[in-house]
Amino acid sequence: MDHLPIFLQLHGRPVVVVGGGHVAARKVELLVRSGARVSIVAPSLCEDLLGRVAAGELTHTDAPFEPSHLHTAELVVAATSVREVNAAVSRAARERRIPVNVVDDPELSTFIFPALVDRSPIVVAVSSAGHAPVLARRLREQLEALLPAKLGALARFMGIRRKAVRSALRPAARRPFWERVVRGAVGARVLAGDESGAQKAFERELYASHVTSSAEGRGLGEVYLIGAGPGDPDLLTLRALQLLQQADVVLYDRLVPAAVLERARREAQRVFVGKQAGESSAQERINELLIGYARQGLRVARLKGGDPLIFGRGGEEMEVLAAQGIPYIVVPGITAALGAAAAAGIPLTHRLLSQSVTFVAGHVLDDETLDWAHLASAHQTVVFYMGVAQLARITDRLRAAGLALGHPVALVERATLPEQRVFRGTLATIAAIAREAEVNPPALLIVGEVAALASADALLGLAVPEPGAIA
Ligand code: SAH
Repeated sequence: MDHLPIFLQLHGRPVVVVGGGHVAARKVELLVRSGARVSIVAPSLCEDLLGRVAAGELTHTDAPFEPSHLHTAELVVAATSVREVNAAVSRAARERRIPVNVVDDPELSTFIFPALVDRSPIVVAVSSAGHAPVLARRLREQLEALLPAKLGALARFMGIRRKAVRSALRPAARRPFWERVVRGAVGARVLAGDESGAQKAFERELYASHVTSSAEGRGLGEVYLIGAGPGDPDLLTLRALQLLQQADVVLYDRLVPAAVLERARREAQRVFVGKQAGESSAQERINELLIGYARQGLRVARLKGGDPLIFGRGGEEMEVLAAQGIPYIVVPGITAALGAAAAAGIPLTHRLLSQSVTFVAGHVLDDETLDWAHLASAHQTVVFYMGVAQLARITDRLRAAGLALGHPVALVERATLPEQRVFRGTLATIAAIAREAEVNPPALLIVGEVAALASADALLGLAVPEPGAIA
């Protein structure tokens, strides 16, 4: 190890920064955030620093650097653009045994600044010891994307309750309890921004731990209703990923591809619950499984294609869970219409062409619940889910309700998946196109003027597909 990472407590401690430009300002920002008492030595200051001096956040010595400026400093940063000045600061600091950083100059520094992910009080520091700052920053970005935004809130939530837990639980029970807080219902709720829900879950968890011994107390189970998105695993939300990493069991649908399942915790048990055609008891069986697993104290991820609350029967599962008193969290997903629109380069709304979007369940057309006159009216986009088998009937209905034969439509099969196919056509042509190309579910029908807009390829100046051609 080239450097020892340590975290300095700087509240109220005197720190000297030499230099008054933007580089200095960046370090000053960090030091002020850490509570240090910063004084700057520089003949002139950039605007940001002038503002901070005016706001009383730091003091300014308007002079060229002299070693005497360091006489009370506990930490020194040199950030001038003149190497001789930086070298003089470094020398003076080292003579006085004060840790010194010269920005971007490891040779003159006795400490370096890491790249930071700040979820205070949780802070992650990354360093390449000056070998590859770009790599360290890249890592920082990846961590930034990976770590929940509310990680700091979770740390504070736990910190505030340490005393209560200490007095409620025997020492041996504490650690397993905190593990369950972090990995279970409580942590998931804090990270989702629901502190009052978290508090309730915390009390339940504490009570359960208190009455059972830590050996048997497995904690309380719960269910995550997670939208898996349209198929491309990169379209999962960060929260979906976080909860998939915590789950003990994953119940998944037919629409959830293997690439998405792979993102679940490796040890998690995977249970396929896709409905077979004609199986009417499927939903009951799924409900029973959800309840059964949660009652065993397991964290159950219920993965559904797209968004769980759009044509996903997520609502029914919520009701069942609520009735059984099983805590659950809903994680939205990118619904197929959004995935398909983006993948096909079709804007679902358009300032001139379409002022509203309607999502329609296209598989039950018999009951007269759909208002076809409304679906056929102008200036809108209508997206039919589950409509492949009924394509001809859908287009007939729309024509009967007044849409022109030449009204543009697009059919997107397996949107965002590697086998995605996009077909463009009109109300008159699309059913035949689909038959010929043997389009199968899952596919979406997008109806509206927007479906005729240039595809993403065309926008890039590539060939514009003929209507109906495979793009
Ligand atoms: N909850 C899901 C929809 C479930 S209904 C969501 O929000 O997307 C199932 C229907 O969704 C399929 O019949 C199909 O019409 C559509 N669908 C789901 N994934 C799709 C995909 N990758 N490409 C095209 N259509 C898809």
